[in-house]
Amino acid sequence: MIKFIGGIHPPANKHTQALPIEALPVPRPACRVIIPLSQHIGAPNETIVSVGDQVQAGQLIGQNGKAFVSSPVHATIAGKVVEISPKPHPLGQSLPAVVIQSDDDQPEIKWPPVTTDVLSQNPTDLKNRIRAAGIVGMGGATFPTHVKLSPPEAKPIDTLILNGAECEPYLTADHRMMLEHAGQIIKGVQAVMHLLGVKRSYIGIEENKPDAIDSLKQAAANTDIKVVGLKVKYPQGSEKHLIKALLNREVPPPPGLPMDVGVVVQNVSTVYAIYEALYLGKPLIERVLTVTGSGIKNPKNLRVRIGTPIADVIEYCGGLTGDAGKLILGGPMMGMAQYTLDVPVIKGTSGILVQTKSEIVMGGYRDCIRCGKCVEACPMLLLPYQIGIYAEKRLFDEAETTGAMDCLECGCCVYVCPSKRPMVQMIKHAKAAIMAKRRAAKEKAA
Ligand code: SF4
Ligand code: SF4
Repeated sequence: MIKFIGGIHPPANKHTQALPIEALPVPRPACRVIIPLSQHIGAPNETIVSVGDQVQAGQLIGQNGKAFVSSPVHATIAGKVVEISPKPHPLGQSLPAVVIQSDDDQPEIKWPPVTTDVLSQNPTDLKNRIRAAGIVGMGGATFPTHVKLSPPEAKPIDTLILNGAECEPYLTADHRMMLEHAGQIIKGVQAVMHLLGVKRSYIGIEENKPDAIDSLKQAAANTDIKVVGLKVKYPQGSEKHLIKALLNREVPPPPGLPMDVGVVVQNVSTVYAIYEALYLGKPLIERVLTVTGSGIKNPKNLRVRIGTPIADVIEYCGGLTGDAGKLILGGPMMGMAQYTLDVPVIKGTSGILVQTKSEIVMGGYRDCIRCGKCVEACPMLLLPYQIGIYAEKRLFDEAETTGAMDCLECGCCVYVCPSKRPMVQMIKHAKAAIMAKRRAAKEKAA
């Protein structure tokens, strides 16, 4: 296996890895879900329900009938639509959402009958079912899965990779999924191989999860799926590094994609959702996430309906400790800090992390002392300090030529910086400015 240069070894803090997945019950007293109409990268959805409508779990409530790069949303509980208005979204803005008040009675959900003969079905039909089920990249990327599974003819795919690295500290949801749902995950992988027409698949799992490696090896016995242990190093789960480690292929710089080297990469929870959509007829209405950190009284791995307010999830985990200080959705390296507990779980929410006040780095950042630690840590071989300085000075052309667009936003540079410089924020700012300039140039040329 190929090792990559750079990267870091933060404490794993995977305290929840031995805790089986629990289901957050529905209904609960005063239970409501807030379902953002857009939980994906791509064109936004429009609602097809109105305030006062009665809906069932799994019922389509939002879609974009015109755009291919979009993904519909469904009601996730049975109840009444009580509000359609902008609500706080994990991305940091207020975005249109459908609020559903739970019925006291949640009837057992009966999904439409589907054939179990998935591997003999037409690939286009399967992709349409994945699209209708509202499946997006559940590792956090939220790119519509049917689009990722539809590469252009000029980009032939020969390998599917299942990303089971889960290299972010604290998060254990994918680990538990691989232990508890190995058979279904393998069926999902086989379905994706069939619809892509590929004969070869790898499942990459960090070597600190030997039980998950065993579990999937057993489930994949007598198949063309190879389970491979990966070196424990952050960010091993980045698509680019996974492809390099497993196939020794280099994804070209942006806008290069894995399909440019014949590969499609899928996340564990996404493939499980594909299994549920194709074999059970179930749309994406719930997901497994890790609720963890010193600020949570009883950390857990939980199966949660999409749209559940974070406050309800935390309450089910015993609430916050007295010194809870910071809420992050996702892991500590790539997750997004939140300012309110009113944001809902969305399709890309892999974890809820609450740090205590004593764990939060306080105070401002200082000038760069040119120690070079960020350069050593950068897995993309960039000069993070230099891009950061350019971004700070609004020299976006220089930031671009120094490789800002290649940045994975992995946070390795920030983690090692003795001056606590927020390079990821600076680089994100530079990227947004570069993209805006490119869009303006395109519009002018059109
Ligand atoms: S956040 Fe970007 S610049 Fe910093 S280490 Fe990761 S890839 Fe390199
Ligand atoms: S680690 Fe921080 S202080 Fe050191 S070179 Fe990079 S930005 Fe500068």
